[in-house]
Amino acid sequence: MPLDAFEPSLFELSHGEGGREWIPERGGADLASLIPSEHLAPEPAALPVVSEPEAVRHFTKLSRRNFSIESGFYPLGSCTMKYNPKICDSLAGLPGFARLHPEAGADMAQGTLRLMDDISGFLAQISGMDKVTTNPCAGAHGEFCGILMVRAYHEDRGDDRDVVLVPDSAHGTNPATAAMVGYKTVEVKSNSSGCVDLDDLKSKLNDKVAALMLTNPNTLGLFEKEILDIARVVHEAGALLYYDGANLNAIAGVARPGDMGFDVVHINLHKTFSTPHGGGGPGAGPVGVKQRLIPYLPTPLIEKSGEEYTLNYDSPKSIGQLSTFYGNVGIVLRAYVYMRMHGKEGIRRNSEHAVLNARYLKHLLKDHIPPEIDAPGMHEFVLTMKDKSRFGEFNAMGLAKNLIDRGFHAPTVYFPLIVKEALMMEPTETESKRTLEEFAATVVDILNEAARDPEKAMHAPYTTPVKRLDEVSAARNPVLVHPCCE
Ligand SMILES: *Cc1c(COP(=O)(O)O)cnc(C)c1O
Repeated sequence: MPLDAFEPSLFELSHGEGGREWIPERGGADLASLIPSEHLAPEPAALPVVSEPEAVRHFTKLSRRNFSIESGFYPLGSCTMKYNPKICDSLAGLPGFARLHPEAGADMAQGTLRLMDDISGFLAQISGMDKVTTNPCAGAHGEFCGILMVRAYHEDRGDDRDVVLVPDSAHGTNPATAAMVGYKTVEVKSNSSGCVDLDDLKSKLNDKVAALMLTNPNTLGLFEKEILDIARVVHEAGALLYYDGANLNAIAGVARPGDMGFDVVHINLHKTFSTPHGGGGPGAGPVGVKQRLIPYLPTPLIEKSGEEYTLNYDSPKSIGQLSTFYGNVGIVLRAYVYMRMHGKEGIRRNSEHAVLNARYLKHLLKDHIPPEIDAPGMHEFVLTMKDKSRFGEFNAMGLAKNLIDRGFHAPTVYFPLIVKEALMMEPTETESKRTLEEFAATVVDILNEAARDPEKAMHAPYTTPVKRLDEVSAARNPVLVHPCCE
């Protein structure tokens, strides 16, 4: 059945006004009469009224519009869209965790606090850091937390620094974070092998630089082999080294950012440790620090004395509280289950398989679309369709839209910004050899079809409720009000 472009909202589907009178009667008592009147709204909320099948059909129709890791292969580079095992959801959903009230005192939350403390310890071991907070609720939020600590550290020493360095291949959140914390950003160039240009870095380091933000492997999927030299020159300039842990899935269990010289690290649990993500959350971005940044960690701090866990809100040099209560606990618990399920060996094996899958897929595709840098990569790789003599007017966006018609999620396109007509692919370890081969064969088939009938290929997708969007207008002039609510 074709998907309609528009599904009415529940309010439009409603046949009547809901509200307080719909609160069901239980055991003869009217629940509304049990609530003290000062806590009741003056008017009943205007809730939509639909039958159960109407509600189920509404949400099922909406869900069919979404592509998810459960509908198919999702090689969205940089995002690590691995399959999320269901057991993580079911264990984190046990009533003792899921029904724990956020206002419950620490004495009533001992089990949850213990798991939060344990996972902080696991993450410290995996990242090579001295202490980890689980408060931040996303990778970008972790960056914000980390760079606030960098600022607090320099300010505490009376060291006046106002610049953060970011590579030209950086994820957009890195310069955005630095700007939000009040820093100017200066770009560091990549060299011809796709890594940080050490000479360019040296020329930009001085006593005004607070930190260099880096991800390793970098956004081209290449391991920064000169990382020890990079760390040395950054530290010699009195700056700190920030690790964007979004690419940890390539090295978890194999190499540790702490050993490479990084001072502060965020870890995207929703990428490396398989908690659900996409569509804006919920996620979790724990942050690990070396000894000298521990005083600045956000509150509350989970502390253990004897057998008892407590929450400490009183830490004089702390950057303060970053999220309500202590972060996205349900997501952190899912990652805890994932880590316990795989163990140290399993986490290492997952990283190795992530790299193997990426290398195999790159091998299958590289004769058809050339890689930007033809060197052995890590967990993701970047191809380029910039050669017009080969692809004509067909481009990365065209390939992405045709993949949607064939039941695959598109790879990341046009990122990193330093690569023209970029296609950034990250298969992850949870995909089979067969899926990778089917995907590669589909890419080749699309390229052949585009060569035969460019006009048709350029206008894909054909199977989706919405065809090609004017993405520039959508970003510049967002319409955030539903027409029926105007
Ligand atoms: C995903 C990603 C981020 C941001 O993480 P979110 O959890 O999406 O906020 C930062 N840097 C890189 C390289 C990423 O891939």
